[in-house]
Amino acid sequence: MENHRIEKLNATFKDYSLEQAFEKLVTLGFSKMAFSTSFGQEDQIIADVIFKNDYPIEVFTLDTGRLFEATYKVFEDTQTKYQKKITTYFPERHAVESLINEKGPYSFYDSVENRKECCEIRKVNPLQKALKGVDLWITGLRASQSTARNEIKIFGYDAAFGLPKFNPLAHWELSTVENYLQEKQVPQNSLHKEGFVSIGCAPCTRAVQEGEDIRSGRWWWEESKKECGLHYNKKI
Ligand code: SF4
Repeated sequence: MENHRIEKLNATFKDYSLEQAFEKLVTLGFSKMAFSTSFGQEDQIIADVIFKNDYPIEVFTLDTGRLFEATYKVFEDTQTKYQKKITTYFPERHAVESLINEKGPYSFYDSVENRKECCEIRKVNPLQKALKGVDLWITGLRASQSTARNEIKIFGYDAAFGLPKFNPLAHWELSTVENYLQEKQVPQNSLHKEGFVSIGCAPCTRAVQEGEDIRSGRWWWEESKKECGLHYNKKI
């Protein structure tokens, strides 16, 4: 999608409520829209809107094989509440076997390269598979989640995946997210109550202290930008 169209869409959508944004989105003529969820707070809001309104959007998740038990619980609770399917994509078996057999189960703690290798195998490659044939990728990204995300707009273009992105919560604050979840009784990951904000794989996520960057609990042993390759592009 060219920049001009993205700018126009951002101007059109800037004052829409979440519901209005989705109502408009489905009239835009995308042929295959997909929403990637990791069952975080923002993702749960988007799932709530898609499932309640039965929008023609595929909802999928990536099972890295290293998720928290609590994440599977909210996955199950979500499917049960809405009676809708969430498609799961797994890493390629031989790639995981080779990684573990060659480097052991915790190679990601040894170097940034090793960590990126694991994320590539368990997340990025399955995401590529999930996004095949998709012409709009929907995410729960918010600008105030971290300094690396502060340029996020409602519509963007992900050059790495060659796809336009729709980030309907781009300008939401965490308090608005929490209020929505509370008000609408949306299932949530129980780890949020224990100080976990951004929740990924179990060995690579820890709780954060009040006032800390939301992403600081991810790959906390690294100094570099806290992204895994799913949303690392500056143009999000
Ligand atoms: S977050 Fe950690 S366990 Fe998960 S894919 Fe990345 S390096 Fe591997």
